[in-house]
Amino acid sequence: MKASGVCQSDFHAANGDWGHPPNEGVTCMGHEGAGVVAAVGEGVTGWSVGDKAGCPPLYTACQECEFCLAEAESLCAKRELLAVHRNGTFCQYVAFDAKFAVPLPDNVTFEQAAPFMCSGGTAYAALKAAGLKAGSYLVAIGSAGGVGHMVVQFGKAMGLHVIAVDVGADKAAGTLACGAEAYIDVTKEKDLPGKVKSLTGGLGAHGVIVTAGSGKAYEAAPPLLRPLGVLVAVGLPAAGTAVAGADPGLVCFNGLTIRGILINSRADMEKAITYLESGQVKEHIQVFPFSHLPQAVSDVGASRTQGRAVVVYAK
Ligand SMILES: [Zn+2]
Ligand SMILES: [Zn+2]
Repeated sequence: MKASGVCQSDFHAANGDWGHPPNEGVTCMGHEGAGVVAAVGEGVTGWSVGDKAGCPPLYTACQECEFCLAEAESLCAKRELLAVHRNGTFCQYVAFDAKFAVPLPDNVTFEQAAPFMCSGGTAYAALKAAGLKAGSYLVAIGSAGGVGHMVVQFGKAMGLHVIAVDVGADKAAGTLACGAEAYIDVTKEKDLPGKVKSLTGGLGAHGVIVTAGSGKAYEAAPPLLRPLGVLVAVGLPAAGTAVAGADPGLVCFNGLTIRGILINSRADMEKAITYLESGQVKEHIQVFPFSHLPQAVSDVGASRTQGRAVVVYAK
């Protein structure tokens, strides 16, 4: 390993927040790593010692079931996730399924690649799930977060008009720099649907992507959509604390679609990483030496980091 992102999902997984028990037998968290191949297992093809490789959250899947064949390997019943079923990336060496490791472009740094394995791929998958045409309006709720700031950048790169929504005026400058056309601070704006309508020709957004993990964020989303609008649920609050949906009267009269995604497929990552390679998107990161991992973890837990926290290992 050369670098590893520190993600809120590590806390949720460790605490058993998603309604299943904390990870049995897992002693090392971390699910977004980047490094070089130190050794290649028997029968492995396509990898050589010294190759740059990324470790995404999905360690392996069966590659045979209907979900795997539909490029939705993360939904495979036999999937194994880093830090949930397998020891993760907060260590110097990681064993990883060769078929699920991600080849990294030469010009992408390990510090950029590591968090991208989770937040970049997930943001790309969320945009794909929204299925919006260039010129459409997208609202990103939780726009300053690890996945959120990538949603804003991918949205801009795909030709969407992005309206960013988050908590606090301090997040405006960074979010606008990511390419959002407007930033709405929910602590100041009393009429969020009215504000979004005023920015979208009076009809509301074509899509809303919720990357914030709170009940309030999910509650706010459906009324921001125009007829035929799509809500994509990404942020994962603790089980039982939020609902992704709305009154059937709102959903039916407006023909809304509500769908969820859990990370990206391998095919998504192959496309997503070309945006990173070409410089169209960039992770905003705060780098910590590996010896400061406890500090990085507590800062992420308290939402104190400036951008995505990334630990780097000794050279
Ligand atoms: Zn993550
Ligand atoms: Zn499968």
